[in-house]
Amino acid sequence: MRHILFAFVFILYANQTFAQQVVIRNPQIQQLVQQVNADSLKKYTEKLASFHSRHTLNTDAENGMIAAQNYVKAKFSEFSSKSNGRLTSMIDEFVVPGDGRRIVSDAKVSNVVAMLHGTNKQDPRMILVSGHLDSRNKDVMDATGAAPGANDDGSGVALVLELARILSQTEFPATLVFVAFTGEEQGLKGATYLADKAKELSWKIEAVLNNDIVGNSKSSETNISNNTVMRVFSETIPLAEDERGAALRRSINSDNDSPSRQLARYIKELGERYVDQMEVKLIYRNDRFLRGGDQTPFMRNGFTAVRMSEMNENFLYQHENVRIENGVQYGDLPEFMDFEYLRKVAAVNLATAASLAHAPGMPQEVKVDVRGLSNSTSLSWKAPIHGKAKGYYVLMRETSSSMWEKKFYTEDTQLKLPYSKDNYFFAVQSVSEYGTESLPVIPSPLSR
Ligand SMILES: [Zn+2]
Repeated sequence: MRHILFAFVFILYANQTFAQQVVIRNPQIQQLVQQVNADSLKKYTEKLASFHSRHTLNTDAENGMIAAQNYVKAKFSEFSSKSNGRLTSMIDEFVVPGDGRRIVSDAKVSNVVAMLHGTNKQDPRMILVSGHLDSRNKDVMDATGAAPGANDDGSGVALVLELARILSQTEFPATLVFVAFTGEEQGLKGATYLADKAKELSWKIEAVLNNDIVGNSKSSETNISNNTVMRVFSETIPLAEDERGAALRRSINSDNDSPSRQLARYIKELGERYVDQMEVKLIYRNDRFLRGGDQTPFMRNGFTAVRMSEMNENFLYQHENVRIENGVQYGDLPEFMDFEYLRKVAAVNLATAASLAHAPGMPQEVKVDVRGLSNSTSLSWKAPIHGKAKGYYVLMRETSSSMWEKKFYTEDTQLKLPYSKDNYFFAVQSVSEYGTESLPVIPSPLSR
């Protein structure tokens, strides 16, 4: 029997009201989320900050960038030995061309990359979690002066290590990729190299979760301290969009429905489902003013990527020399961080990455029938190429709302709803028999 089940009318996000909220947690994912450990994250961060400098152009193999890369590689290898060899890792060296600016002349630099290979060899999907290993002080060209970079971005790399440690103990059909980038501060060099390579090798990256500055909860400037809220930045109009894509976007008014925005909503829903006392704030921007991040080269290559960051940044500690001046402390040291906060940000990442790697792929050829005038909506789609969908959620929201507001479950590949296609936005996501969901796909118009 084909049937429609009203799954649940879920979370009212706008005003943080908890009325009528049903939270269904997959026990396997919950069990993984609970393993994220603040002490473990603190240990990794302190070790990373203990290297004198992790500047991209630092070549010290004893106490500098090369030593830090070796440390990250050694951690990946340690996790690999407990994963029956399913986690492989490498120091991926490449030559970054001199640009006469932040890279004066050609230099050999390296990303450190680990892959937890999916159990299904036919399934090419990849989920990438990243942070940047390189650090800087006030002078971006100072490759030898002290640059502890505990929070920027030791926090992101510590998070990547913690996820690799936990997730490598479990099997997923899709592949998880863990990356410590180099060259972020010199102009996104490591991410540009990997994103270009991924495009060239036709990697099927479904999501890039880039973490940069994620371990501090207090601003000295505003004196606001809050470890229950984080930010996810997502692009509005895709950087890689061509004229045809832009024309379609205008015609269906999907300017708030880029793949990156769908991923951001997914992170909010999954993060808040599995991590208590954490609100995920959607920021409708690629990044902050005057700043950039390693998500951008992936967006330029057409991949779906977001940046995660703390809510209350402390600019006394970023890109500064460690010093006390007029009684004010500057510099990026671990003692100014909040590791319980970093634990929750890592847990949000883990809930998202594990759910995506576990879930079936996205439904294909999602269409909305616009061939006639009516006060209903007819949607149709095809099963995902990879993984098995037990059913699908059709998501619905007001055109003026940010988050999906209603979802309808069906085991069919079409659904007619008594709500006008003119008055709501819709999307479809695949659901496994364990309830794990793919990213949502918005319908394109079926006009003939
Ligand atoms: Zn950074």
